[in-house]
Amino acid sequence: MPGFELFGEEERKHINDVMDTGIIMRYGFDGPRKGIFKSLELEKKVMEVFGCGYAQLVSSGTAALTTVMAALNIGAGDEVIMPSFTFVASFEAILSVGAIPVMVDIDETLTLSPEAVTAAITPKTKCVMPVHMCGSMADMDALKAICAEHNLILLEDACQAIGGTYKGKHLGTIGDAGTFSFDFVKTITCGEGGVVMTNSKDIHTKCDGYTDHGHDHLGVDRGTDLHPFLGYNFRISELHAAIGLGQIGKLPTILGIQKKNHGILKSYLEQIPEISFRSLPDPEGDSHSFISWFLPTAELAQAVVAEMKAQGILAGNFYWFDNNWHYVRKWQHLQNAVSLNNISEAQKTALLALKDKDFSTSDAIMSRCVSTSIALSWTEEQVHDKGAKMAAAIQKVLEAASVEA
Ligand SMILES: *Cc1c(COP(=O)(O)O)cnc(C)c1O
Repeated sequence: MPGFELFGEEERKHINDVMDTGIIMRYGFDGPRKGIFKSLELEKKVMEVFGCGYAQLVSSGTAALTTVMAALNIGAGDEVIMPSFTFVASFEAILSVGAIPVMVDIDETLTLSPEAVTAAITPKTKCVMPVHMCGSMADMDALKAICAEHNLILLEDACQAIGGTYKGKHLGTIGDAGTFSFDFVKTITCGEGGVVMTNSKDIHTKCDGYTDHGHDHLGVDRGTDLHPFLGYNFRISELHAAIGLGQIGKLPTILGIQKKNHGILKSYLEQIPEISFRSLPDPEGDSHSFISWFLPTAELAQAVVAEMKAQGILAGNFYWFDNNWHYVRKWQHLQNAVSLNNISEAQKTALLALKDKDFSTSDAIMSRCVSTSIALSWTEEQVHDKGAKMAAAIQKVLEAASVEA
């Protein structure tokens, strides 16, 4: 899964280009930088590789979400519909622009349930934000239709789905805008970084200014830039962009290895009739960074996780239901609205209401789900060994359960 597993000469070469000029900032210093613009170069690559009209690099995936929400005019009091299963960054970004995260159930795609989205729409709803979790996609046609019918913004959090596609289009380029994260554990990494992708010149121009203090980047030099609106500093550095340039060239290799290893692991798991798999709205578009599978019951899933732990083969297997970072059940700080500074009454009320919200549909799915992350560094022998050991552990638990029953 993570690009850091394939780290080497290419990244070093781009870093050295930057070190040779000493200009590690992306803007200005046009003389001494001797034509080296790593951030611009990476933005062009992102547009080319993923097929979007515009790309704005930023300092993180979280910053990408915050930036694009501001550019999309999502702000105080607006409701953003998002899934109960995601990384905490998704709601952090919504809160950061003053908006209200409206968490709704997922379905067996492990992403937004279109029915749950429709049921959650109110006059305050401004945006629907699917999160393409664990390398694979939400049902984009259904979500697009809902957004079109209700005149809502469709914003894709594709931070975990770099290289995944839906009906031939890259995830993150289908809605009004989309984001990737290039943090250290993502499919390709800059160390820290992220990108906003869109086909709208207007959204892009706003993102460009917002991430650099609102500077309009139209002055004859940096000091003469004007400020058509307020902004922040979410800039990426040239060193981070340099690493990203090394990484993006390896994406086809990364996706190829993921697909191969995923296929081998799946060949073991699919021999067990009790195991089912995450449903994929477009199976061709899976990035294969994870394989997500279900046991028939929560008890069996927990027993399998315990058995894999006892056998020392749990590494790389995620039981999200008990995970502190990715599932609403464990986001106590959010449910208690524990903020260091004052937040608006509207945000506080919405967050405190989460404690009593019924997520039983999501619970019924997540409590049966295990996701296995697909490493790039495994040898073929190691993948076969992993598959065989996981299958044996699962069979052991299933047999014990059937004896008991
Ligand atoms: C990683 C991630 C982010 C945020 O990315 P950072 O670069 O770590 O800030 C946002 N959403 C999802 C779903 C992620 O997995």
